[in-house]
Parts: sequence; structure tokens; C-alpha cells
Amino acid sequence: MSSLGNLTVLTGPSGVGKGTIVRKILDNHRDVWLSISATTRQPRSGEIDGQHYLFLEKKEFQKIIDKEGFLEWASFSNNYYGTPKKIVKEKIEKGTNVLLEIELEGARQIRKSFPEALQIFIAPPNLYELEKRIRGRGTETEEDIRNRLAIANKEIIAKKEFDAVVVNKDIDQAFREIEGLMGLKTKI
Ligand code: 5GP
Repeated sequence: MSSLGNLTVLTGPSGVGKGTIVRKILDNHRDVWLSISATTRQPRSGEIDGQHYLFLEKKEFQKIIDKEGFLEWASFSNNYYGTPKKIVKEKIEKGTNVLLEIELEGARQIRKSFPEALQIFIAPPNLYELEKRIRGRGTETEEDIRNRLAIANKEIIAKKEFDAVVVNKDIDQAFREIEGLMGLKTKI
């Protein structure tokens, strides 16, 4: 009998460096598969449909909600984001280790539907550093930056709900900690 793959949820405020950490995990561990989310937000420059996200119109997103096609979905800073259910379940059933990079409400939903999933919260060293990183990225409007910082405050308060909290002070150290939590062997 083949064993099931593990499900790991990575959550943390916008700008905390989740994307960079996820990249490092995927580059170092070919056996980990990242779920590609659907979103109604506009692509940022350089983002490719089907690779970074499935970029959908609100109507299309709603249709998937109606069909119960999402494992979880949430509204974040005036847009919808969701994890496609079918492919994630198939991957886990085939024994693949699956990674979800999602916000707090989605993580809470997964906690109910997949209580066995490992939930990791990535926290910034402090809010000043987080704001500096979001602004430095230069990809959001001022309104969106303010929204994201307000959400960040709420997310950081909820970090206690997670199985583990990793402070991203140093990207390599944070990556190593997450590797350890996920039970992945570090390559030297
Ligand atoms: P961004 O617009 O910066 O790409 O993503 C905004 C937030 O949405 C981030 O916190 C990201 O982790 C989260 N997110 C991305 N995909 C999903 C998803 O499928 N579900 C949920 N709940 N959040 C997501």
C-alpha cells in the first residue's frame, strides 16, 4: 500500500519572504510539490498565468466556489484566492509532499479539513522591517500596502494557532528551520 504525502501549510504576512522561502524549498527538494492557487487579482509584472497563479475573473472564481472545487478559499485585500481541491488531493493520495502558501483564513479552513497538515507561520522580525520589505518590492499601490499592513497585524496576532513559528530574520536560517520542521534532509 502506498503511503499518503504530507501536507504543509505556510502562512505569514504579505512581504515576509514566503515566496523566496518556497522557491528555496522547491529548488532543493524536487519531491515537494507547490499547489498553484487561483486568484482574481491582476498579475504583477513578470507573473505568468498557470505558473505563479491561475488568474481568473471573479465570475470564473465564483463558479469554482459553487462547484466546491476549492479545498479552501478566502478574500484578501479586495481579491479572492483559492486552492484547487482535486489536484491537491490526487497528489497527496499518490504520496507526494504538498506545500500550500496561503493566508490566515485559508490556513484555518485547512486546519478543519486536514487536521494532520503541518502549519507553519513565518513571522517578520518586526513590523517596521515588514513595511520596509513591502514598500521595497514596489508592486502594490499605497492603498493596497496599507491594507496588507493592517491584515499583517491581525495575522501576527494569530501566530499562536500554528504548529510552529519561524522568524524570517535571515532567509537561509528560516529556510533551514522549515526544512527541519518538514522533515526534509538538508543538502550541504
Ligand atoms: P499576493 O497577492 O501577495 O500574491 O498574495 C496575497 C496573500 O494571499 C498572501 O498571503 C498569499 O499567501 C495568499 N494566498 C495565495 N494563494 C492563496 C490561496 O490559494 N488561498 C489563500 N487562502 N490564500 C492565498
